[in-house]
Amino acid sequence: MSVSSDDKFTPRTPHPRTQAVHHGTRRSQYGEMAEAIFLTQGFVYPDAASAEARFQGTGPDEFIYARYGNPTSRMFEDRIAALEGTEDAFATASGMAAVNGAMFAMCKPGDHVVAARALFGSCLYVLDLLVRFGVKVSYVDGTDLDQWAAAITPGTRAVFFESVSNPTLEVIDIRAVADLAHAAGATVVVDNVFATPVFSRAVEQGADVVVYSATKHIDGGGRALAGVICGTRQFVREVAEPYLKHTGGAISPFHSWIMLNGLQTMDLRVRAQAEAAAGIAAALHGHPALSRVIYPGLADHPQHDLAMRQMGSGGTMIAMELAGGKEAAFAALDRLRIIAISNNLGDAKSIVTHPATTTHSRLTDEDKARLGITPGLLRLSVGLEDARDLTADLMDALQG
Ligand SMILES: *Cc1c(COP(=O)(O)O)cnc(C)c1O
Repeated sequence: MSVSSDDKFTPRTPHPRTQAVHHGTRRSQYGEMAEAIFLTQGFVYPDAASAEARFQGTGPDEFIYARYGNPTSRMFEDRIAALEGTEDAFATASGMAAVNGAMFAMCKPGDHVVAARALFGSCLYVLDLLVRFGVKVSYVDGTDLDQWAAAITPGTRAVFFESVSNPTLEVIDIRAVADLAHAAGATVVVDNVFATPVFSRAVEQGADVVVYSATKHIDGGGRALAGVICGTRQFVREVAEPYLKHTGGAISPFHSWIMLNGLQTMDLRVRAQAEAAAGIAAALHGHPALSRVIYPGLADHPQHDLAMRQMGSGGTMIAMELAGGKEAAFAALDRLRIIAISNNLGDAKSIVTHPATTTHSRLTDEDKARLGITPGLLRLSVGLEDARDLTADLMDALQG
């Protein structure tokens, strides 16, 4: 890296792409260039007193056991925290370990949580578990601020929502919900997977805790499960970490290494994917086989202005509804040649999902209808292929 003499002596925060490549790197005595994988569960103490000191947290070295922390995982945590703009982060074995960890670590019986109704199925499961342990959970239409205002009370411990919902891409106003929550003393927890860390300004807009499934855009290659909880040092180290380190939600050092590599290219990938998604959404818009194209970057999206204000992008995901219902949706899926039928997202490979029969099949018909998960709905995760090939693949599939 060549640094001009002007830059060299000006203290400044590096831009996100620079942080995504360098931030948090720790080198061993060998001075390795690439981040090392510390594939070790334990750490050796030079003598008994050092072991005692480390367990007391008073010694100079910080690692004890990989369920508590690991140098490779700490590099990933420091890097994602820098990108998200939070003081600290705790990396977890999956996105769900992050959601579960954040919510269970902070709640106790009698607490009240307000959540948006449109959530990833496993997130709903975690909230149901909280209810089993004596937490009261109220659900609202996340796009309706009056419902948030009515549901949040002075006793509310936390609010939880996906800033862009899965699969119907409703955009929730982080700033407005955070203002209501903070006025009641509640903690704002945002599942920010669809927004991605690239387009996230969730903390700036009032989120206290941001959780990611790193399995998605952070890995970017559909290889490994991982998650992360970003927040204040106090929340991450004193609330989330004790819960996670004792209940076993820690990430594997190998997966941390995969995620560190993912972060280095995430900005380039996600911006390219979002640009392709915008073009594909525009091409699909008005197609006679489709009754609806849902993309936050399209001017007719109900929260288009909010999406642009909040994320500055429509993101990498598109939902579309086939006028011919399930039969037409299945026929179109079966005609695709490049885009794969699967259920991950944020992958370099484009993926299409039929939520009603797969990711959201556990919901009742009534809940599906209420969430807009109709028989003709498809969810598309735009990958890194040439957008012209993806558009042609979709057009051929829709033509029948
Ligand atoms: C995938 C996903 C999760 C869960 O992440 P895993 O890594 O699969 O455990 C949580 N929330 C949202 C919005 C997701 O898309």
